[in-house]
Formats: sequence, C-alpha cells, structure tokens
Amino acid sequence: MKHLQRKGQKIAYFSMEIGLMNEIPTYSGGLGVLAGDMVKSSADLKLPLVAVTLLSRKGYFQQEITKEGKQIEHPAEWEPPKNMESLPTVVKVQIQRREVRIKAWRYDVQSLTGGVVPIFFLDTDVEGNFPEDREITSFLYGGGERDRLKQEIVLGIGGARMLEALGFGIRKYHMNEGHSSLLTLELLQRYGMDIDRVRQLCVFTTHTPVEAGHDRFCYDLVQEIMGEIVPLEVLKRFGGHDRLNMTRLALNLSEFINGVAKRHKDVSINLFPGYEIHSITNGIHSYTWTCESFRRLYDKYLPGWANEPELLVRVGGIPDEEIWQAHMEAKRKLIDYVNEVTDICMNSMNYDGMDWDTLTLGFARRAAGYKRANLLFSDLERLRKINKKGTIQIVFAGKAHPRDGTGKRLIQEIFGYIEKLKGEIKIVYLEDYDMGLAAKLIPGVDVWLNTPLRPLEASGTSGMKAAHNGVINFSVLDGWWVEGWVEGITGWAIGPHPNERVSTEEAKIRELDDLYNKLDYVIIPMFYQKRDEWIKMMKNSIGKIAYYFNSHRMMRRYVTEAYL
Ligand SMILES: *Cc1c(COP(=O)(O)O)cnc(C)c1O
Repeated sequence: MKHLQRKGQKIAYFSMEIGLMNEIPTYSGGLGVLAGDMVKSSADLKLPLVAVTLLSRKGYFQQEITKEGKQIEHPAEWEPPKNMESLPTVVKVQIQRREVRIKAWRYDVQSLTGGVVPIFFLDTDVEGNFPEDREITSFLYGGGERDRLKQEIVLGIGGARMLEALGFGIRKYHMNEGHSSLLTLELLQRYGMDIDRVRQLCVFTTHTPVEAGHDRFCYDLVQEIMGEIVPLEVLKRFGGHDRLNMTRLALNLSEFINGVAKRHKDVSINLFPGYEIHSITNGIHSYTWTCESFRRLYDKYLPGWANEPELLVRVGGIPDEEIWQAHMEAKRKLIDYVNEVTDICMNSMNYDGMDWDTLTLGFARRAAGYKRANLLFSDLERLRKINKKGTIQIVFAGKAHPRDGTGKRLIQEIFGYIEKLKGEIKIVYLEDYDMGLAAKLIPGVDVWLNTPLRPLEASGTSGMKAAHNGVINFSVLDGWWVEGWVEGITGWAIGPHPNERVSTEEAKIRELDDLYNKLDYVIIPMFYQKRDEWIKMMKNSIGKIAYYFNSHRMMRRYVTEAYL
C-alpha cells in the first residue's frame, strides 16, 4: 500500500447506492449497505480509496404499512448540508442534447485509526439546469427506464469527470454492479479509444445472478438520451448488439471481474461464459453491526477486535454466561421495542405482547419475491403444531420496491398469515426497515431465518450481521451461507446442497421438510432444554463465521487480488 500512497493515486469506488447510516437514506438494501461497509473498512485500514455515488436527496422511501398490509411510500427527505460539505466544482454531461451541470457533496468517513475516505455525492439540483434535470438525483431508483439511464450517465460519466476535476489521479475504477459502467465510455474517450488501457484501469463486481436483473437499454433510447459519447459500433461491440447491457459493458472493459460469493461466481460463469470471473465473498463492517452489549464483551476479552476481526476466532475464552447475558440484553431491547411500536393486544385477550424468554425468529430484508418471506407459512397446520410444543415468536420487516407488485403482495400475504395465526403465534411485521432497525432487530432475535429461492441470493449479508451478535443462522444453502455453514456447528441448512442436482419442485419439498423438522426436533428442543449446546453454537457463529465474513478481510482481498 505504501507504493499506492507514494504515487498519490486512488482507487475510485463507484456505487449507485451507499448506505452509511440511518441519517443518510441513500440506499435500498444489501448492495448499498455493503458499499458503505466497504468504505468504512477502507477508512479503518487507511486504504487510498475515494467513493462516488448519487445524492438521492429524497432518499429511497420511507415505508408505512396499513392494517391490511398495504405499503405506502413517503419521500425520505434528508438534509445534505447537515451532514456534508458542498463543493464549488461543477462538471457537465450531455443528456437529451442539453448540458446538465453536476455538483458534488463531500462526506468524509473518518476512522479512529486516523484513516479517511471521502465520498462524493453527485447532485444535479444545480442552478442553470432545466427543471426536469434538477430532479435526476432526487430519488434512488425512482422513475422509469429513462430516468435510470439519466442517473447512470450522471454516476458513470459525471462521476469520472468529477474526480478528474477535483484533481484525483485514479489507478483503478471499481464498479459496484453495472449501474456505473458508462464510466468505461468516458475512459475510452479520454484515452483515445485505447481499450487495453481502459481495461487495465477497471474492476467490476457483479451482484445479480439472473439475466433479467441486469440493466438493459435499447439503442434508440441510448442515442436519444446520451448522444454518441463513443461511436455506436464501438458501443455495440462492448455493450451487446441488440441492446446496451450494462453488465456486458463492464465485463468487456474490466481486467478483474468478481462475483460476491464462491457460489455466485459459478452462477455468473454460467450466465456469462467466456469471461474469467473470480470470487471475493462479501463481508460486513464488524464494529457497525455488533450491538452494544457484544461490543463491550469483545472489548473486554478481545481488545482490538474492531480493526482486527480475526481476533473473534478466540471467542472460546469468553465465559458462556457472559455471552448469554450480552444476548439477552439485545433481545430485551428488541422485544421491548416491538411491544412499544406494535399494537399487540389487537383483539385477543391473552395476547399481551412478545416476551423475553420465547424462542424468537427474525426475518428482515428487501421484500422481493425471491426472498420468499412467506415460505415459513407454506403449511400452517404444521407450523401450529410446532408452536404448541415449543412456542415461538417471529419478527418480520422489509420494504418492497415501489414498482415491485410481487414484493408488495408478499407483505400483504404475511399480514394475512399474522391475522390467521392471531392468538396462536405472536408475529409482527415492523415498518420501515432501515439500517437503524436492522441494528436493533438482528442482534435481538435467537435465530436468523433466510429462505431465498436458489440461486438468486448472490451473497446476502444479514446472516453475517447475525453471526457477529451470536445469533444462529437457519438458512437455505445459497450465497455466502454455502461457505459459512457447518451443520449443527455454525447453524442449520434448509434444503439441499447446491451440488445436488434436484428440480425446483423437489428442492422446495426438501426445504419445507428441513424448515419444519429442524425447528420441531432440533432447534426448539436445543433452545429450551440444552442451553449450553445453544451457547456453544452462538460462540461458533462468532468464532467460525464473524471472524471471517467481515469487510476488513474482504477489502484486503480486493487490494491483493483486484487493485494491485
Ligand atoms: C444488511 C441489510 C440488508 C441486506 O440483507 P440481506 O438479508 O443480506 O438481503 C438489507 N437492508 C438493510 C437495511 C440491511 O441493513
């Protein structure tokens, strides 16, 4: 790294969304939170990194849910001047044959180690811009296809120009997902179409394991909105013949390409044959995602853990009793919060809120169809029977994208089950899942449930947050969990191993078998009757998962494998 610093050149990290904290709501889910965690670890490790993203002044959205389970979206307005510094520099891009001016807000992520990583939030709400152009950076993922393309022009082309105007020398451009891949066109133009030079400069991380999930724009639209930054034949050569595929563009113009878990690398190679695709498995920022009580415990027994999360491997030295107390502190906080914000005595007389001692399952993430928040309710009779013996309670949360009808219906469906099971199983769906709620919810449950449809979970990161807090994972074998899972030691699997060749139908049958059987015969008995075994698994979550699945390890891998 000395070498990098001497040359004063930076790694430029581009992401459509960056999730740093609750007060800056410029993220929609895992992708943005990962970007924020990456920046935080880079600051801790004093890496020479700068980050570029969009301002998203009206945020993603704030979620309200009606009693019937209908999602209502409100703008999540926030005030950039309260959080960051407005820079005088203005750069321009062409959009619809108009000049659009772009300014930037600077936010410095400062680490206790003394490391600093600046983030530049691009903003088109600049005097002199056409009124509609001033809105380009208002809503994260707002509007339709045209708006998306405009945002991607601002991010990729505008972002590269902004770094140049601010005087940064850049040795690598790291594209977090395809949203920023138009920056390759800016570089082609800047370096006289020197393709090798551009490829040497670019690193691309893909996050989407399905073809349909990748941004594609038809060339008529591209020409209308963007004009010809490079000749059309060149663009088609790299971006695909029929439509501009942002992932293809990045794949073709990046020297280093990676998926976000080993499993996702295999899936990506099948999706895009012919490219050399590596894997760097995701991680989370350990300090950010460890709750207060566990921070105290780690500080006492494993000092230095926050900047050296490998130390968590030595969790064995912490007394069981203190692990359990730290967990119960987080659990009581969550349960008290749930009882405060939910109208839990809705109609049944004996239904008086959740309690501290009941086995609590958590499920919270974006409400997208493939995440299958409803899988647990596939057989209500079975679930009722399981609950009679052990009693469980369940906490849900998650936002659906404003245009994702399936995700919205999923939330309504869960509300339907809550109603059906009222008086039998205590279940709540908390509103407005964000980083603040995640930090409270995940450490406060006993088991973190994850039931995605394989192979659509590229990595997933919330299970890593759970592990940092001694919460045990119970998950479909997809994404990172294929690497983190040791049955009965670090957690439990739901359904077949990815190497087994089974149809989707058969997989679902086996998933339901595992889901219900393991809850009934393994998880509930262990929780209530073998607390010492339970605590051992909590410690394994910390010592065998958290020590590795953190963004410090991830960033070191990016440095040695992608950046140097
Ligand atoms: C960590 C996090 C996610 C990612 O959750 P997954 O289960 O990995 O999809 C999404 N939203 C928020 C607010 C998070 O903190």
